[in-house]
Amino acid sequence: MEVIRTREELREATDRARMDRRGVGFVPTMGYLHEGHRSLLARAREEQDLVVMSLFVNPLQFAPSEDLGAYPRDFERDSVMAGEEGVDVLFAPSGSEMYPGGEPSVTVDPGPLGDVLEGASRPAHFAGVCTVVAKLFSIVGPCTAYFGEKDAQQLAVIRRMVVDLDIPASIVGCPTVREPDGLALSSRNVYLSGEERVAARSLSAGLREAAGLVEAGERDANVVRAVMARRIGAEQLAQVEYVAVVDEETFSEVPVLERASRALVAARFGKARLIDTMLLPVLS
Ligand code: AMP
Repeated sequence: MEVIRTREELREATDRARMDRRGVGFVPTMGYLHEGHRSLLARAREEQDLVVMSLFVNPLQFAPSEDLGAYPRDFERDSVMAGEEGVDVLFAPSGSEMYPGGEPSVTVDPGPLGDVLEGASRPAHFAGVCTVVAKLFSIVGPCTAYFGEKDAQQLAVIRRMVVDLDIPASIVGCPTVREPDGLALSSRNVYLSGEERVAARSLSAGLREAAGLVEAGERDANVVRAVMARRIGAEQLAQVEYVAVVDEETFSEVPVLERASRALVAARFGKARLIDTMLLPVLS
């Protein structure tokens, strides 16, 4: 595995691969890898000739009040795991390599999809995500890029960005990897105390209850929301930020479950702000 620190060297590596008619797979990450990241890397390895993983904790997507400074980092461990998954190129730029002129004055507006849910809780978040991902796509060049469905709204915003801005990347969504008790893997799980870790199971439990209710025939989205809010709110250590049932395409809240809909939840457990999501069953 080659570790690359500069944009220029990465461009050269991916250009060379494409000249040799090798497919380029790209997995953007903020590091502190877990099985969720591994699943994306494994899929890219299976489908592509050259696998590039980026490791960059992007300051632009964190608000001043958020956990940029505390975000877990372990380059040695990450490079071992990336090597184990067959990554060919690990791109790990510094902040000044990614933003040589400091904070960029031209940024990507994520549009209305970026205003709701995560976008409402974290106002500049998706502009920061879109800006760094657009820059990474511009450096990597034409590729197939792998993203987790756990961050479903991010995946939807990125799919829309590549269409609207004609970015030559095909986007592949990959299923959420979970702990045996249902907790979605996240780099931020490391912030959880033992008790918070137990309480955090309520996120996936609430989503499963919601899906079960819909499977059993419930159509009123407010009933589904109430079930999730009750399940997560029953945990004393949980501070619920939102529970939502949205249209899978537009991410706007739906009153009735008619077409493909998605349940999403966000809550704080101590220092950890966690999100989770599940596609709800569609019954005819
Ligand atoms: P991050 O390092 O948190 O920015 O995540 C990098 C990529 O891994 C994103 O596409 C995430 O959606 C994806 N990811 C994070 N957690 C999981 C998970 N539990 N299962 C599958 N993909 C994940």
